Amino acid sequence: MVSMALGSDRESRHVHVLIVGSGFSGLGMAIRLAQQGVRDYLVLERGNDVGGTWRDNTYPGAACDVPSQLYSYSFALNPDWSRSFSKQPEIQRYIQGVADRYGVRDKHIFDCEMTEARWDSDTAHWQVHTSKGTFTADILISAVGALCEPNLPDIKGINTFQGKVFHSARWDHEADLTGKRVAVIGTGASAIQIVPSIAPKVARLDLYQRTAPWLLPRNDRPYTSAERFVFEHVPGVQRLYRAGIYAAREAQVIGLAKFPPAMLVLETIARAKLRSQVRDSRLREKVTPNFRIGCKRMLVSNDYYPALGRDNVDVVTDGIAEIRAGSIVTTDGAEREVDAIVVATGFHVTDSPAYETITGRDGRTLAEVFEAEGQQGYKGSAIAGYPNLFFLLGPNVGLGHTSIVYMIESQIAYIADAVATIDRRGLRTVEVRKDVQDSFNRTLQGKLVRSVWNTGGCASWYLDKYGNNTTLWPDFTFRFRKLLEKFDVPAYETTTRSRDIEAGAESKVVAG
Ligand code: NAP
Repeated sequence: MVSMALGSDRESRHVHVLIVGSGFSGLGMAIRLAQQGVRDYLVLERGNDVGGTWRDNTYPGAACDVPSQLYSYSFALNPDWSRSFSKQPEIQRYIQGVADRYGVRDKHIFDCEMTEARWDSDTAHWQVHTSKGTFTADILISAVGALCEPNLPDIKGINTFQGKVFHSARWDHEADLTGKRVAVIGTGASAIQIVPSIAPKVARLDLYQRTAPWLLPRNDRPYTSAERFVFEHVPGVQRLYRAGIYAAREAQVIGLAKFPPAMLVLETIARAKLRSQVRDSRLREKVTPNFRIGCKRMLVSNDYYPALGRDNVDVVTDGIAEIRAGSIVTTDGAEREVDAIVVATGFHVTDSPAYETITGRDGRTLAEVFEAEGQQGYKGSAIAGYPNLFFLLGPNVGLGHTSIVYMIESQIAYIADAVATIDRRGLRTVEVRKDVQDSFNRTLQGKLVRSVWNTGGCASWYLDKYGNNTTLWPDFTFRFRKLLEKFDVPAYETTTRSRDIEAGAESKVVAG
């Protein structure tokens, strides 16, 4: 591991490319750079392993709601998936296996948290301070992910609670919930997997629901050994299967982004599921959503509604007024005693603390820029004012319908081409032009106006405080791929190294 090479010294170390984060995106980026012959790069990872969100989310029932055949790298298909929707341990093993197979682990520094990244115009380097010393880099790639910083609810008295309280993404495996009275706060993608997994073993489960989600059937099943044999040995079958899943999911973009009334088809399926799985009319009324399906992330589960129907489970729809030492009090004045609280309240997405640590050319942090102007970028991969900085899963790259790995691989190709272009042309700096970024975002927001995310009648973390959808891609994902096929130098202001040497000063050119 590189951490050994660094030893105990805390002096600055320079690398050509520094990647921060080693989930699906950072790991994939590292592999691609290695494949194109970039040797002088490092990956900083604050955890003790690769995997990102799949390393961190170990809550009971954690699984992917996108089929694994699609939720995997195109360059590392896995014929051995045990089932159509894999569980977290299998996905984490897959990611670890890819890191080993492509031999990039020794480029990682684990347990190394970036605390600050600052652009230095004089040297044209990023200065990156970490828990394991300082680094400088010609090119910085942020791969910290959007769903990594737990969002802890600001509920009165939560710090006075005497029992165990933990976030879904930081599951406390020491806490034995068997026979305990447990509260789960939230009804998002994480909670709907946690509730059915723990309900059979707890004494009582109070589920605090602010908004009822839409649920679709989960077509999950184990793969037979014959299927796995065919995936492995019959050329093309697995890719064809994967393409079929991709195409079926892509069809949802029509309803989600272009013509929301088309979502009625899925809403009808979801309503039928609700009717058949929730027979108790009072419970059904509580868990019937009041917005157009797709406005929030569509959830898939076969065991969530049955879990809510259990005698030891109660869906609480009154808001939480206060948490006391051993109980939760709701706005109707009811007080429910509880031994442990699971906080499944999602993540800081549009207000990630990571943005406070990155300072650009004009001395402003990303958090300050986003606060003033909204979270905007160019192709989700670059931001004006931040030279030589690229983003994986930056603004408007998120999805509500298919595999994020597809988007990640599109960005990896773009950023890898950017690095190759910088090296080939001897560029000192590249920075996306503000006018290009603004024009890109006008088009993007124009497309989002009619989307179900903006018109579906719900509040969601997809929208920022200005009401702009700064998280999701508003079109077919193959259009994103096409857009990011090549690094488009004219969209960037560039300076060259050779001119520096010739003129002895920075020279600014707009590449054409
Ligand atoms: P989430 O979707 O953001 O859901 C958070 C839940 O907590 C919502 O029900 C929200 O209610 C509720 N909540 C938030 N603050 C609250 C408060 N102060 N008081 C009461 N309730 C509160 O979070 P998540 O379930 O962790 O999922 C986050 C994302 O992770 C998902 O959208 C998905 O992209 C990803 N994920 C994916 C998988 C997968 O299978 N691939 C699994 C888990 C998560 P409101 O709805 O009213 O805001």
